[in-house]
Amino acid sequence: MRTSRSMRPPPSPETALAELERQQLLRVRHTVADYAEPHSTTHAIVAGRRLLNFCGNDYLGLARHPEVTGALREAASRYGVGSGASHLITGHGREHARLEEELAAFVGSERALLFSTGYMANLAALTTFAGRADRVLLDRLSHASLIDAALLSGARLRRFAHADAAAAERMLAEPSGSMRPQRSTIIATDGLFSMDGDLAPLARLALAARAHAAWLIVDDAHGLGVLGKRGRGTLEHCGVDVREVPILIGTLGKAFGTFGAFIAGPAAVIELLIQRARSYIYTTALPQAVAAATRAALALAQRESWRRERVLALTAQFRAAAVTAGIPLAASFTPIQPLILGGAREVLAVSRRLFDAGFWVAAIRPPTVPRNAARLRLTFSAAHTEEQVGALVHALSGALHGMAQAS
Ligand SMILES: *Cc1c(COP(=O)(O)O)cnc(C)c1O
Repeated sequence: MRTSRSMRPPPSPETALAELERQQLLRVRHTVADYAEPHSTTHAIVAGRRLLNFCGNDYLGLARHPEVTGALREAASRYGVGSGASHLITGHGREHARLEEELAAFVGSERALLFSTGYMANLAALTTFAGRADRVLLDRLSHASLIDAALLSGARLRRFAHADAAAAERMLAEPSGSMRPQRSTIIATDGLFSMDGDLAPLARLALAARAHAAWLIVDDAHGLGVLGKRGRGTLEHCGVDVREVPILIGTLGKAFGTFGAFIAGPAAVIELLIQRARSYIYTTALPQAVAAATRAALALAQRESWRRERVLALTAQFRAAAVTAGIPLAASFTPIQPLILGGAREVLAVSRRLFDAGFWVAAIRPPTVPRNAARLRLTFSAAHTEEQVGALVHALSGALHGMAQAS
């Protein structure tokens, strides 16, 4: 075969890596060698240092809770480590079935369906319910997995300004153009935004969706377990009935401290996902032991409401002290507190200073966040103490002050 003159080999990985390094965008993994305290993820041992962890997602302090790890151990010795097959072959077990019932009851939906990850749950939600002729409207700061899911669905993707329900309404009202009029529109958004800590305007988005016969899909990976009187998440906080949201996505690796994800919704929605969702059908089921551990975590999250009260109180303490110290805060009352500094270089420098002072706060850089919006993403956990939060503010103030002097 004749090769075209315009053909080039793909760019070399070495060149791509050098370019990332030049832009200060190279990612490095820090290996957690161990945790220094029993039952908690707040003190991590990294590179021989004991660090206070202020960047994980273990909001309720459940990841190493003895009831959770005990349930995992017990179920693993009973059912094994691997589930052995997909849910539709032989991989679906009693712990999965019970967890699905408990999750549905928790969020108030008819049914729930377990997935191995939130990424896969989002792929399932959008590829099952949107196709090439449909339209997906997405908040501009939605999680990468929602964006990838919308792209994979083949639907026409429009992105509206962050948390701007009026912008979404304007898109809904646009004439469908070449779209066949009988096709549908889906609005998809994070509930609590993972990198900003603020909330989607769910009440107004739900109204808009209803007015235009669109579906509202909410990915509440960070809100569930944390927000709302009963921990039912951003919907509960915003006073939105779960029936207004035909697809609610939750993850289990954050507030619930385990691993996996679920979609909650009406029975027929769940049944169609079982029939059609490729990221449900063509993959090995989550281990039953992980489902058992999650059941223990879900029970604790519901029984011990002090955990979400505490993480929100520690967050409020941080905010009050940060204001006093002149630390610039974003508009978030949730356990996700971004400190937007702008450039990747500055953020890396502050993160390194904090590391040297014994605090682990990861630098979040593009493409995870928009260009010129690199940030420290601070997170709080019910397992932190008031003293630790106070020490963090002190160290942060020092690190930022050092930056100002250096520049
Ligand atoms: C973490 C996260 C996901 C992905 O969930 P995993 O279970 O980690 O794959 C999806 N959406 C949002 C908003 C997230 O923060």
